[in-house]
Amino acid sequence: MYDFIKKTAAFVGFDACGIAKAERLDKDAVCVNEWLQNGCHGEMAYLSRNVEKRVDPVLLTPGCRSVVMAALNYYPRKHQNSSAPQIAKYAYSATDYHQVVKEKLSLLEKIIREKYGEHVVSKDFRHCFVDSAPVLERAWAERAGLGWIGKHTQLIVPQTGSYCFLGVLLLNAETHYDKPVKNRCGTCTRCISACPTRALSERGMDARRCLAYLTIEKKGEIPVEFHPKMSNCLTGCDVCADVCPWNKKWATPNTHPELTEADFLEWDMDKWQSLSEEDFNRVFKKSAVKRAGYKKIGQNLQVLSDHTD
Ligand code: SF4
Ligand code: SF4
Repeated sequence: MYDFIKKTAAFVGFDACGIAKAERLDKDAVCVNEWLQNGCHGEMAYLSRNVEKRVDPVLLTPGCRSVVMAALNYYPRKHQNSSAPQIAKYAYSATDYHQVVKEKLSLLEKIIREKYGEHVVSKDFRHCFVDSAPVLERAWAERAGLGWIGKHTQLIVPQTGSYCFLGVLLLNAETHYDKPVKNRCGTCTRCISACPTRALSERGMDARRCLAYLTIEKKGEIPVEFHPKMSNCLTGCDVCADVCPWNKKWATPNTHPELTEADFLEWDMDKWQSLSEEDFNRVFKKSAVKRAGYKKIGQNLQVLSDHTD
């Protein structure tokens, strides 16, 4: 089953796949609780719910025995002009990555079911996730030997880098498991030094200071102290990933036709500012950019425009 899953994951288009035994993540549970107690999740209250399910997949999907983690490289083939309001690379695609990864994951599940029988997945509980359930994807990816979690808190996949989407498939069957790979951050602290808002430290990330949170998840306006530190980020931020030497070495443009870059990559500040709500809803209907919403994007644009020479 182990080899079959790996080969099938590659066949459906994933760039990497690893498998771990489904068990409680004891060490991660301590870190998650400490992070939440310190309020580092800001207004993302959903992160403080279902913590026990988050650290124990058997509570989330009773009967599961194995966690299959699949990674999809999304490093883009084209890039925005650096003077334009910046969109995080994960949202470059015209089609929301949730849909792209979910389709591949569902196909992987279907082929595994056809080979090993319907009982291999739960019929009563959800077992296929893309950012959609209380699952610690990066911790599982690390356990499943897909890569290591860098000091920028993202998963670094050897030979691919950190620009990867992750999908999770919980199986009710046991198989062989992968071993974690070595953490190769070493003494490097480039991401910590480069973070414009000092959201990163050796202890982890304070989401309340992170531009990915401030430009998308935070309700209302971005606090004034961060206005001069926006680094031209309109929605999301790639600063810490862009400076990582492993991304410089390994990140290569993805080969997935489903991740075709959207036309809005060509837009400049004027084009963004002239966008009506109706046009926003039409252009971003299928895009991950819509998560921030028209109002929030408008507020972010105002901050960028007030702090651009
Ligand atoms: S995404 Fe940007 S703001 Fe957030 S930790 Fe990385 S560099 Fe800092
Ligand atoms: S920039 Fe350096 S410390 Fe940060 S994730 Fe990359 S290798 Fe690790």
